[in-house]
Amino acid sequence: MARSLTELTNHSVTVTAVSPYDVAGQAAAAADHLGVPLHPDPGAVVVEVSFDLDHHPVSVVVDAAQSAPVVAWRLANALVDVGQEILGSEPFPRCPAHRHPMALGHRDAFAYWCCPQDRERVLYPITTP
Ligand SMILES: [Zn+2]
Repeated sequence: MARSLTELTNHSVTVTAVSPYDVAGQAAAAADHLGVPLHPDPGAVVVEVSFDLDHHPVSVVVDAAQSAPVVAWRLANALVDVGQEILGSEPFPRCPAHRHPMALGHRDAFAYWCCPQDRERVLYPITTP
């Protein structure tokens, strides 16, 4: 997923770390703050994935127990949002046919980049179909 962004843009995107995320601790802190009990999904395998995007540190929390395409899709979706904030008005990643950013698509076991005007047409795979 990070490789697809590096290959599609003139920006460097690399994974720098994958570490366990303290769901119970975060849920307890949030429950204290909100004043309501929270019950995190006991089946989740939550990890924090750290990226370097043009020397900007970016961290994304994701449930690694989900399928690879879903995990890749969620990481890409978060990176696009953060990347757009970092890069400003430059579309990230830019659609090869237009001036807008590419969109993310996913089918059952496959995540890919597509044009938001033609979401069924795979422009660049993120995971292997
Ligand atoms: Zn387009």
